[in-house]
Amino acid sequence: MNPNDFRTGSETTVARLTCRDLILQHLDAYVDGTLAAELLGDFEYHLTRCPACVAYLHTYRRTREMSREAAVIATPSGMRAELRQFLLTHLHDE
Ligand SMILES: [Zn+2]
Repeated sequence: MNPNDFRTGSETTVARLTCRDLILQHLDAYVDGTLAAELLGDFEYHLTRCPACVAYLHTYRRTREMSREAAVIATPSGMRAELRQFLLTHLHDE
């Protein structure tokens, strides 16, 4: 198996995680500090190879902080859904 195959393809798969899995299944736990130890290494390795997920993580964290500071934002989950949709659309276009 050619090791270079690992990094080919438009749907980025790094350390057994696709961007979609990382964001939709693991991001909340990661930001909360509750991601399982066996996933943490894969998650962080993915981030070292995937600028799109790093950018999303930064946006997500900032949004959460802003939500916490404002304290009155009615629908943080709605905002999160919008962000997710934005990223998924972005990835799909690539
Ligand atoms: Zn990614």
